[in-house]
Amino acid sequence: MGLIELKNIYKEYTTDQIITPALTDIHLVIEKGDFVSIIGASGSGKTTLLNIIGCMDLPTKGEYCFAGKNISSMTEHDLAKIRGKQISFIFQNFALIENMTVYENVEIPLLKQGLKKAERDQKISSALKAVGIDSLSKKRPAHISGGQKQRVAIARAIACGADVILADEPTGALDSKTAKEIMQLLTKLNETGTTVIVITHDMNVAAYAHRILEIKDGRIEHDMKLHP
Ligand code: ADP
Ligand code: MG
Repeated sequence: MGLIELKNIYKEYTTDQIITPALTDIHLVIEKGDFVSIIGASGSGKTTLLNIIGCMDLPTKGEYCFAGKNISSMTEHDLAKIRGKQISFIFQNFALIENMTVYENVEIPLLKQGLKKAERDQKISSALKAVGIDSLSKKRPAHISGGQKQRVAIARAIACGADVILADEPTGALDSKTAKEIMQLLTKLNETGTTVIVITHDMNVAAYAHRILEIKDGRIEHDMKLHP
């Protein structure tokens, strides 16, 4: 049984009575510990797929099971728990809260988990150390670089104890050297058992994965395994 199992998934958006099909007949199994890249043209449905996997959005049709549980049978409370503990998102534009410090940004999911101050402290400092930015904990996002901001997002995933990291073009706003450092960090996390799924336009980034999915017009066009 895969950690992530999508069967016969369809997704369409309806805006002003106009229906836009975004995903068609998606069948996909991703095992725990896998490292997957999703590539495809702009508008092909990559973000839609990642948002469904991350329980941020529901499919129009089809069945999605996460860790053996059917998402459609879960309450909003259960879904919020998955989003706040098991799955962590990383975005191209970092999505950090500007008026909070680095420390406070990493703390957000830990507060939602209801952890006590001492436990939060310990998890945050060890996560910041793991991504090499423990000296920046009191800075605000405006005063650190793009690469450092993405490290904050990764530290948040580490501190939160996420089983799955979903990254939507995480290197899209970074130079190639910094992009490489970020992908090396994600690789390290994957080696400790975290399932990593990365959307990217960049084949150099996609090549870090063990499996590449190519999406075309809302369908999985190719499913390539790169390493055993
Ligand atoms: P990608 O991430 O590959 O660029 P998306 O998943 O964002 O693609 O989009 C897939 C299709 O769904 C596109 O045609 C896009 O215009 C449409 N779409 C995405 N989000 C919405 C939305 N919130 N409302 C309406 N249409 C949307
Ligand atoms: Mg997208």
